[in-house]
Amino acid sequence: MADINQIGVIGAGQMGNGIAHVFAAADFDVLLNDIDEERIKAALGTIEKNFARQVGKGDLKADDANAALARIKPAPALADLADCDLVIESASEKFDLKKEIFTALSKLLKADAMMASNTSSMSITALAAATDRPEQFIGIHFMNPVPVMRLVEVIRGIATSKETFETTKTLIERLGKTMAVSEDFPAFIVNRVLMPMINEAIYTLYEGVGSVEAIDTGLKLGANHPMGPLALADFIGLDTCLAIMQVLYEGLADSKYRPCPLLVKYVEAGWLGRKTGRGFYDYSGETPAPTR
Ligand code: NAD
Repeated sequence: MADINQIGVIGAGQMGNGIAHVFAAADFDVLLNDIDEERIKAALGTIEKNFARQVGKGDLKADDANAALARIKPAPALADLADCDLVIESASEKFDLKKEIFTALSKLLKADAMMASNTSSMSITALAAATDRPEQFIGIHFMNPVPVMRLVEVIRGIATSKETFETTKTLIERLGKTMAVSEDFPAFIVNRVLMPMINEAIYTLYEGVGSVEAIDTGLKLGANHPMGPLALADFIGLDTCLAIMQVLYEGLADSKYRPCPLLVKYVEAGWLGRKTGRGFYDYSGETPAPTR
């Protein structure tokens, strides 16, 4: 296995902070980058709170949590990641944005450094083609919230080398997570199945079949899901849900994946779910209130 000690994480949003958290907890040094410096500060605050919660539950010793937190350093400029052995990109789910990041990264990373994307849906082969090292590129798709969810989906692009795959496998074992391997098809395995269900729940709301509360209660108590699909959509982020549906719709060219117009409207309104305080629920009060 290539020697991986220093991890760069690009995008300090809800996923980026979780990825930084789990690598630091597994003794890796982490550099956290974002285009917006405020997001890095906010992410470090979130990570501190999440470590404190793990300590409170007895899952982690306070000393270990403090040491892990100290291993995460802000990296406001992309060039700060130059010495990383692996960089995981977890910026917003927009293809051109990711492509630009990888092209820029190619110019500054060491020749033997690996690159990965946490994309929920996009072609790993196409992202790899934006780099100078497609054989050292792989999809490492974490689940939200990263410190809690046990699965990591791994996706090889057409050029991904055996060594890159084996190194990734070892890394995931070190994180204590379970790997599921998916071929490089739109939205991979988990979101290929999950997102059309969420989209259908939004159609059910759009067509007036049921209220937000009825739909979420229906799936929670009727299908034994831990969370209703609309609450889950808010948790994931409605912009990310829409981006995934668009990749499925265009990538598989099948009308059954068409994004619900209500989902499109919510994203146009900037109602992106929990991260903006409003989605299918309003999060301004003590308990989330359904908006429809
Ligand atoms: P988010 O909106 O919480 O965070 C995205 C972050 O990317 C923001 O902080 C933004 O400032 C930053 N960013 C944008 N452009 C950038 C650039 N050029 N350089 C550096 N940072 C930049 O989104 P998220 O939910 O954390 O999603 C991030 C990625 O993870 C997406 O690819 C998404 O599909 C994937 N993902 C999301 C989930 C989920 O449940 N939300 C699950 C698995 C994977």
